[in-house]
Amino acid sequence: MKNHRPLHKRVNNNKKHIPKTASLEHKKLYFSKEWKDLRRIHLDKFPFCFECGSTEKLHVDHVVAHKGDYRLFLDQSNLRTLCLRHHSSKTATIDQIRDESGRFM
Ligand SMILES: [Zn+2]
Repeated sequence: MKNHRPLHKRVNNNKKHIPKTASLEHKKLYFSKEWKDLRRIHLDKFPFCFECGSTEKLHVDHVVAHKGDYRLFLDQSNLRTLCLRHHSSKTATIDQIRDESGRFM
């Protein structure tokens, strides 16, 4: 049986904030059908955080930073499931998801 997760409600405002940064090309990769398929397959196989086993707020992390390398980006052996907390602590020092006491939420 597959879990039918409720879809996140999409806020469909027409104002698109697309930052003109060098990483824009990288971001495009995440909108590709190939990535979406691969991501789903990966999460089907590994529906838990690699670090703590959490099944909440999962991200698919690239073990080796792909830096826009399409092959590395779509290399299934380069993927690892991480929860938001561990993904954030890896991808860098993002403080926005700490709660008031300073812990990661
Ligand atoms: Zn975790």
